[in-house]
Amino acid sequence: MREWVEGRVVDNVRHTGELFVLHVEADIEPFRAGQFTKLALNIDGELITRPYSMVNSPSEQMLEFYFNTVPNGDFTSRLSKLQDGDDILVAPEASGTFTLDEVPEAEHLWLMATGTAIGPFISILKTDTPWERFSRIVLVHGVRHASDLNYQETIAEFSVREPEKFTMVPFVTRHETDFAMTGRIPDAIKDGSLEQKAGLKLNPDSSQVMICGNPGMIKESKEVLNERGLMKNLRRKPGHVTTEHYWQDD
Ligand SMILES: Cc1cc2nc3c(=O)[nH]c(=O)nc-3n(C[C@H](O)[C@H](O)[C@H](O)COP(=O)(O)OP(=O)(O)OC[C@H]3O[C@@H](n4cnc5c(N)ncnc54)[C@H](O)[C@@H]3O)c2cc1C
Repeated sequence: MREWVEGRVVDNVRHTGELFVLHVEADIEPFRAGQFTKLALNIDGELITRPYSMVNSPSEQMLEFYFNTVPNGDFTSRLSKLQDGDDILVAPEASGTFTLDEVPEAEHLWLMATGTAIGPFISILKTDTPWERFSRIVLVHGVRHASDLNYQETIAEFSVREPEKFTMVPFVTRHETDFAMTGRIPDAIKDGSLEQKAGLKLNPDSSQVMICGNPGMIKESKEVLNERGLMKNLRRKPGHVTTEHYWQDD
């Protein structure tokens, strides 16, 4: 297997100040929705690589990545400057177990993300599998500002197509809006306000939860879900909560 394939940037669109959607053409192997690949750039003579989740569905040829520039971030400071026609290396084989085939059967699927970690959920929701497997799907997306809520058109399409099945619950932490919840996701799980907003109970009998993004949010959400009997999902010991951390807590 080749370690890297040459990719070509098709566009790199700034959504808001620090959020970017990158489209790349690259001949990679088939992948499963929710997986990630590695991107690599030669920066000052050194090959720097980072993992990024695919936002496109496995059936879409064009690779899509959603990222934010991290202050003093070695990779994203360069990634954000790429333009149409630039080269980027892409690992041809996707990795990761943050996929629906790792999630046990249940009635309801809860997908909880912070920031750019909505990406793998968009990929998953673009496939038929979640809609065939679950009777209700709740997508929870936490951001700082309402303007950070990207992918609204795609999400609206899910709502139009599956109005009975699909519920979107946005969280905006830095200011009040007339549509989003304002607090933090773990607190809203704990005090029941997330369930109230979604009109659905979170419990071990009916729920599977996938959580992606900020490690602090994942840790706290896991703790409050744990208190309600929703346990970590492991291959050797199936449970209810499947997670993907985008970085390590310092
Ligand atoms: C499996 C996996 C999939 C990932 N998929 C994505 C993705 O689709 N989109 C995406 O934006 N990122 C994703 N990441 C994170 C990504 O790989 C990089 O870590 C991130 O883009 C920062 O890279 P950097 O070199 O600019 O910053 P670095 O120099 O690596 O990090 C600088 C500091 O910022 C922290 N940090 C890293 N990422 C963030 C962040 N997003 N917000 C705040 N602090 C951060 C690090 O802990 C570190 O302390 C993924 C990570 C993993 C493990």
